[in-house]
Formats: sequence, C-alpha cells, structure tokens
Amino acid sequence: MSRKLLVAGNWKLNGSVTMTNDLISQVISGLPTDKVFDVAVFPPFPYIAQAVAIASRSLSVGAQTVSEYDQGAYTGEVSATMIKELGCDLVLVGHSERREYYHESNEDVAKKFAAAIRSGLVPVLCCGETLEQREAGVTESVVADQVNAVIEEVGIGAFEHAIIAYEPVWAIGTGKTATSQQAQEVHEFIRGLLREKNETIANLVPLLYGGSVKGSNAEELFSMQDIDGGLIGGASLTPDDFLAICKQAEKVSRK
Ligand code: PEP
Repeated sequence: MSRKLLVAGNWKLNGSVTMTNDLISQVISGLPTDKVFDVAVFPPFPYIAQAVAIASRSLSVGAQTVSEYDQGAYTGEVSATMIKELGCDLVLVGHSERREYYHESNEDVAKKFAAAIRSGLVPVLCCGETLEQREAGVTESVVADQVNAVIEEVGIGAFEHAIIAYEPVWAIGTGKTATSQQAQEVHEFIRGLLREKNETIANLVPLLYGGSVKGSNAEELFSMQDIDGGLIGGASLTPDDFLAICKQAEKVSRK
C-alpha cells in the first residue's frame, strides 16, 4: 500500500513573530497546490495560534511537546486540549531532546501519547538510539522498548491515529544522516513490531525518518519502502532548505 508522504518541520527553540509569518507564507507559496504530499510545522507554543492562522489548512501545525495531564496544578504545562483548541492536528512526543534534557522516560512519553489521543491530536512518537547503543548492537531493543511502552499504555488500536518518527540520536543536528539502508532497516523493524499486534494498523502507521535530512538526501530516504516522510529540524528553519526537501517529496510522490 502506498502511503502519502509527510514532510514535518520541528523548529525547536527557534522562532519569532516575523519568522513565523515569513517562513510559513513562503513555504506555502512554494508548495504544489494538489497536496500530493502533506506538510506540517511545529513552532514553539507562543507562535502556534499565529501559525494556524497563516497556514489556513495549506499545511498542518503541531506542538513540540504536551503535558501528560489534562488540567490542574501543573505550573508551566500545556495540555493537549489547549493545543487542539488552538487548531493543531499533531504533537511530538518523546523527542530525543526531551528524553535527554528533561529526563522523559518511556513511561512519561507513553502518558503524553495517551493525553494526545484523548484530545484528538495525532501524536508523533519519536524514537531512536544513541551512538553508544548502536555501537553496542542494541538499536532494536532500545526502539522496541520505546514503542512497546506506548503500546502497553494505550493499546495498539491508538496507533490508527498516530505517527512514529525514527530519529537516531547520533544523526540529529549532527550533519550525519543514517544511510537510507540503515534507516529502512529500523523502519522495517518498527513496522514488524506493530505487525505482531495488528497487521492493518502496522500497514497504516506513517513512519517518518529524522536526522539531518536535507534536499540532497531526501529523495533517497523517501524512496525507501518503509519511509513515509521526514521529521526535519535544522533544514526546516529556512524556506529554501525546507522547500528543497519538499521538492524531493513531490518527486517521489509523483513517481
Ligand atoms: C529533529 O530535531 O527532529 C531533527 C531531525 O533535527 P535535524 O534535522 O536538524 O537533524
């Protein structure tokens, strides 16, 4: 079954009112009008409402993280309902920077995933191994633990409305991209994990690759059988770089 590619830009802690306006409007004007592939941006919280207004359904807007709680005395947190109310469709959960700097465990990530599902947001579950873990030969067990923790919390059925992004930590922001073969191998492994629980859902879940994707490597990555698009960090911050990746997504989609 061929899936629609998704090119998603994670702005991380970057942005301003001007950047939100310019970046989104320039990206929209460079996209094909027939929506042959999907595009999403993940700005910081303060720019989400503005991003949704400018995007006006030409692309989707998501948040970079979410509280596991729906409401209450959790100062500084933002709930999935609030994100949904602003017009977002998507939310990242378990990005490696959240896992590393904010000590989010697999169980914390699973609770955030559950909160997103409760509010009708599509969670983008980020998973991936560190360099040490790859070198120790434990990539598959690390990724399996990350995905299985979520399946245990919400059940495989919740993945009908979810996305998984495989992002090897050693490839994020380093300029070192996984080869298309390395990425495909892990994507195939993840799809196999889901297949053990539910074949239909395994075939449906979009699997994005993230880690130093750019215009020059996107076509090869997006052409792999189990790679359904990309989660882009650095190259999503300028319209030219992001559109160069979108161009490759368009090329692969029209083949
Ligand atoms: C990311 O932040 O999810 C990411 C993949 O970053 P980069 O594209 O810069 O490696």
